[in-house]
Parts: sequence; structure tokens; C-alpha cells
Amino acid sequence: MIKPDRAEVLRLLSVTDKAELTQLFQRAYEVKKQFVGTKVYFRGIVELSNVCKKNCYYCGIRSGNSDVERFTLSKDEAVTSALWAYDQQYGSVVIQSGERDDAQFVDFIEDIVSTIREKSNHELGITLSLGEQSEETYKRWYAAGAHRYLLRIETSNRELYRKLHPADHDWEYRVNCIRTLKRIGYQSGTGVMIGLPYQTLEHLVDDIMFFYDEDIDMIGMGPFIPHEDTPLANALPEYNEAEHLDLALKMIAVCRIVLKDVNIASTTALQALKSDGREMGLLAGANIIMPNITDTKYRGNYQLYRGKPCLDENANLCRGCLEKRISSIGEEIGYAQWGDSPHYHKPDS
Ligand code: SAH
Ligand code: SF4
Repeated sequence: MIKPDRAEVLRLLSVTDKAELTQLFQRAYEVKKQFVGTKVYFRGIVELSNVCKKNCYYCGIRSGNSDVERFTLSKDEAVTSALWAYDQQYGSVVIQSGERDDAQFVDFIEDIVSTIREKSNHELGITLSLGEQSEETYKRWYAAGAHRYLLRIETSNRELYRKLHPADHDWEYRVNCIRTLKRIGYQSGTGVMIGLPYQTLEHLVDDIMFFYDEDIDMIGMGPFIPHEDTPLANALPEYNEAEHLDLALKMIAVCRIVLKDVNIASTTALQALKSDGREMGLLAGANIIMPNITDTKYRGNYQLYRGKPCLDENANLCRGCLEKRISSIGEEIGYAQWGDSPHYHKPDS
């Protein structure tokens, strides 16, 4: 894949005219059809725990927020959710959680991953999204059967990262984690928040260059949505949901146009801004959806941002509504398939 041209990326991200925006999305959709097709792959998300040792300024489950009731699923609950996804023919699951790196947690995850692998006849794909860990931990989880890992860099700009995190949250360390994951053999996913306080279009251009430079296989990015119990609750005085949504959709479209064969998720945060936000994401070039399969009794406590949708819908209903939504835009669901990023399989990419 040729290196994207910065000036061109900036030009595309700067489009605001409605007709030009429509054209941009159509162009991205053509590239999507050509490089990854119009099948949508599902990753059922299990929100394993909201216990987190970190304190990111934007996140509703940061350790400093004492208004959250903390929970951790039992092994049984986590495995049952994953196997539900398997029965529904979802090709894979994502296990996501606040960050912990104590020995008990590392063992717990290893056990869950190997049990899911075994009980799904080694068929269900397993992605982890459990934050920064040591190389040894990543290796153990890989050996247990996880094969993809999502670790958003949040922003590729060090200074901006510093403004959004306490001093001991280290951007360099996070980048190294992404590289380590890749070296171990995971399909590597990263992403950023879009529309962050202090973020400029130039920063977003840098983010796309970062995805290219780090040779990323999967991108999961979404709009930043303020959460009332965080230090950034009021950091965007001019916060406007429609503009935030447009900017996030533009990022998806431009990533598709310049990076071509990567998997791009249409994330739940898009749906939080508009009920059909995820369908709009698919039409702007995304090809992955991550339905929430966590038991509804825990969902209220996994509020990373304001207005997270489907809080009281059970996973079954979510599936029914998703099928309708996807067929309404003329796409098909890739049931029982891993839906790997074609980028990952390219020998020379
Ligand atoms: N603890 C892990 C995984 C769970 S958090 C980690 O941080 O990697 C998953 C993602 O939620 C984060 O990467 C971040 O991009 C997103 N997130 C957190 N707070 C958010 C907010 N206010 N608006 C939008 N996304 C948010
Ligand atoms: Fe913890 Fe992840 Fe939230 Fe940061 S973004 S506070 S690491 S759950």
C-alpha cells in the first residue's frame, strides 16, 4: 500500500459541503466494495469488568470515579456470553475490560480464553481489549488462543495524549505495546477518539499516518463523547453531536480510501450520537460491527461515555434489530466467519 499523501488526507478531512461529503462517502464505499466487500462481520463484545487501575480524563469508569459500582463477571458468566455468540454464529468475540495487570487477573483471562476456545471447538475467534500488559502476559494470552488485540492509541500526538491523561500514563509505552502485540503474531487493532478537546484536523491526519506507519490490521475509532463524571465533562463548550458524527464518519471514509484493505469497525459510540449512526458508518466504509452481548444487568455500570445505547435491551433483541438495520442498507452479515482483515494476510503489507 502506498504511503498516503498528507496534503490529500487533510483536504479530504476538511470537506464540509453536503454534496462533497456525500461524494466522499460514496468514494469510500466503492473502495470498500473493491477491497473488503460488503459483508459485515460481527464481534460480540463481552464487557468483562469495569475495574480499572488507570485514570484517563475522558473515561466514565476511570479509577477516580467513585460513583460507579464496580463489577467483574464470573468465569461462567463470561464463557456463557461468548458461547451464546458462538451459538448465534457470530464469528468472533471481543473481551473488553478496564485495565488490571495483577497475576490473578492474568490467570483469570488465560483461563477464560482457553475455555472459550475449547468449548467452541476452536472455532470462535477471540479478540482481547484489555489495555497495556507486559510482553509475557500478551504471549500467554496468545498461547491460550486469543488471536486479535485492540489497543487504541487514543491519539497519535504525544502532547495531546499528555493533556488527556495523568502524568504516569505513558504514550511511548502504549505504542510499544502495539508493536509487541504485532511481533507476537496478533492481528493488531488500534484507533483514536475523534473530536477530542484540543484536537485539530492535523492531529487526525497524523492519526491516519500512524495507522499506516504501524501497519495496523484493524481500526476501531469513534467520536469522543463527554461523560459528566470526568474531568473533561465540560471541555468542549461548543460540543455538537451532528458535527461530531460527521467528523467521525469522515475519518472512517478517509481511512478506507487511503488504507483500503484494513478492517474498520462502526463503533457503538456512533450509535450513541444518532440511532442509525452505525449504519452510516458502514455506508462510509466500515465493515465490522460489535454488538454488545453483556448481560443487561451490568451494562449500566460500563458507561465509558454519556448515552451509551442498548442499556436495557438484551443481546437477542440487539441481534434482531441489527439484522434489520444491516439488510436495510443492502448488506449481508458474514455469519460464522472470522472475517479477518485482508491486510493481515498480505505477505508483504
Ligand atoms: N481499558 C481498555 C479497554 C476499555 S476502554 C483500554 O483503555 O484500552 C475502550 C475505549 O473506550 C478506549 O480505548 C477509549 O477510546 C474509549 N472511550 C473511553 N472514554 C470515552 C469517551 N468519553 N468517549 C468515547 N470513547 C471513550
Ligand atoms: Fe481504564 Fe480504558 Fe477507561 Fe482508561 S479508557 S480509564 S484504561 S477503561
